[in-house]
This record gives sequence, structure tokens and C-alpha cells, in this order.
Amino acid sequence: MLLSKFQYHRPANLAAAHEMIAAYGSDATVYAGGTELLLAMKARVLRYEHLIDLKHIAALNELRREDGWIAVGPLVTHHRLATDDIIRRLVPSYAALSDNIANIRVRVAGTLGGNLCFAEPHADPPALLAAMGATVTLSGPNGGRSVPAGDFIEGEFTTVRADDELMTEIRIPITKPGDRYSYKSFGHLERPAVGVAGGHLRRDGKSEYRIWIGAISDRPLHMNMVEDELAGVPPGEIMDVLRQVTEKAASELPAHDDLHGGADYKRHLAAVLMRRAILEAAGAAGDFPNG
Ligand SMILES: Cc1cc2nc3c(=O)[nH]c(=O)nc-3n(C[C@H](O)[C@H](O)[C@H](O)COP(=O)(O)OP(=O)(O)OC[C@H]3O[C@@H](n4cnc5c(N)ncnc54)[C@H](O)[C@@H]3O)c2cc1C
Repeated sequence: MLLSKFQYHRPANLAAAHEMIAAYGSDATVYAGGTELLLAMKARVLRYEHLIDLKHIAALNELRREDGWIAVGPLVTHHRLATDDIIRRLVPSYAALSDNIANIRVRVAGTLGGNLCFAEPHADPPALLAAMGATVTLSGPNGGRSVPAGDFIEGEFTTVRADDELMTEIRIPITKPGDRYSYKSFGHLERPAVGVAGGHLRRDGKSEYRIWIGAISDRPLHMNMVEDELAGVPPGEIMDVLRQVTEKAASELPAHDDLHGGADYKRHLAAVLMRRAILEAAGAAGDFPNG
């Protein structure tokens, strides 16, 4: 189906974009790579009179190292995140995730900001960003605010972003020496049926774990219970508890049947992927074959 008519706007800076959002209200939306938005508009699921193209706002396309963080503009594409030297060296698990998103056509056009703001549940970035302690920055007519990545998505296609706010930055903590993250996903369609981010951190000589699950629910899920059970368990002893803890946690997940698989199948995937992600992050993957 063809796109219905709309007016195209090309603000050169953030202030101009905010002025347009204020002027056109709910008749307008912003777009970045268009990979989600234009499909939804062609399918007549969404309809707007005004499209505000963010791509000419250079500040939203920056990627730079800061003290302890990497500041990523929302327009930065998955392909750039997969191949950029700063990302590959300082947050290698995030580069690996980006390299596995969709296909090359989507990766070169689709942006991280668009992925997060659209909040389609079968997405890869949110779980790993949450596990890593990333934050997103939103700018509105009355100033900016920072939101933890784990709190940004509220449900299917719903985030805490207000209609007049724009995402202006994603801040990813540089992985500390001795810490490691791993992201494991599986699905038979284009997007993941389930994706699990696992982290192993050394704090005061003790092991801490981070575990978030994406795609299985309408928002990324923080597996505090698994983290608590594993806290202090060194990688060499993790096999003693890992299977039991992950199976119990997975059995309670709020999965549902859909095109990506049945609820029980997704819970099974979650348990297996949790083990694989945690073991890889802890550097113990070789000790525990067959997940
Ligand atoms: C075939 C296909 C396969 C895919 N497979 C995967 C996959 O395996 N894993 C995965 O994670 N994702 C997958 N995706 C999703 C893909 O990652 C997203 O389509 C892409 O990242 C969206 O970015 P965009 O720049 O195209 O967003 P757009 O389509 O331009 O925008 C999406 C939404 O975000 C809003 N928006 C964009 N930027 C901002 C901003 N700065 N501030 C506020 N709102 C903003 C827009 O208004 C719109 O509502 C797939 C998509 C397709 C089409």
C-alpha cells in the first residue's frame, strides 16, 4: 500500500524540532531511519499529517567516549554500533548484539533511538542496555531528564517518553576491567522470540550477576531473584545452583502464546538462554555443555 500524503519537515537543530512538535501536536511525529514508522504508515496502522525528519540534526548523530560512558546519539544506526571501534573495544557485548539485529538493510537505516522509542517488544537492545546500567536522555520543552534504560519501556509500544519529548542520547557505561556481559537470543522469525542479557561483575573481590530478559513480555524483565540467588557464587561453583535457579525463575515468567512460539517453549528458551548468557559472562561457558 502507498503512503498517504504528509508534509515533510527537516529541522536543522533540536530547538526547531521542538517548535514543530509544539506547532503540529498529535498531527505530527518524528522519524529517524523510518524502518518501523514508514511500514506502519503504509499499513495504515499509523497516520500523520506532518513528518519531522531528525536526520539533519547533527548533534543527534554523535558517538563519543566520555568519562566512564559512551554517549550515543539516538540517530546512530545499529550498523555503526556493530562496527565502530569505540563500541567494539569498550562495550564489545553491545557491538556483538548490534551486529545480529535484523538484516544489513535494517541495520544501516535503523537507529538505536528509533528502536527504543518504538518499543516493539521483540527487540534486542533494551535487555542488554538495562543490564549494563545504561540511561536514556529525553529533552522536552521545559528541559531534559535522564531515565534508566530498564525503566524506559512501560509496555507494548509504550514508553515513559511524553509526546513532546525527544530522545537525545543513550549513555552506555564502559565495561569495567574484570566485568563481562553476554547477550543470547533465539527466534525463528526476524526478531527474537526471547533475548537474555547476563552480566558477571567483580565487586570487592566477589561475584555479582546481572540478568534481564527481553521479548518474552511487553517490557524487559529484571530477574532480581536469579541475581540474588547467584550473588557471591564464584564462576567455578556456579553450576551447582544455576540449573535449579534458572528453571524456577523461567517457570514463573509471564509468557504468552504468539507467532514467536508457545508460552512454555519461550519459558524453556529463557531458562537455556539465561544459563548460556550467565556462563559466558562468567567465563565458564566451556564447563557446562548443552545449556
Ligand atoms: C525486517 C525487520 C527486522 C527487524 N529485526 C530486528 C531484530 O532482530 N532486533 C531488533 O532489536 N530490532 C529489529 N527490528 C527493528 C529495528 O531495530 C527498528 O526498526 C529500528 O531500530 C527503528 O529505528 P528507525 O530509526 O528506523 O526508527 P523510525 O521508524 O524512524 O522510528 C520509530 C519510532 O521511534 C520514534 N523516534 C525515532 N527517533 C526518535 C527520537 N530521537 N525521539 C523520539 N522518538 C523517536 C518515531 O517517532 C517512531 O515512533 C527489525 C525491523 C525490521 C523492519
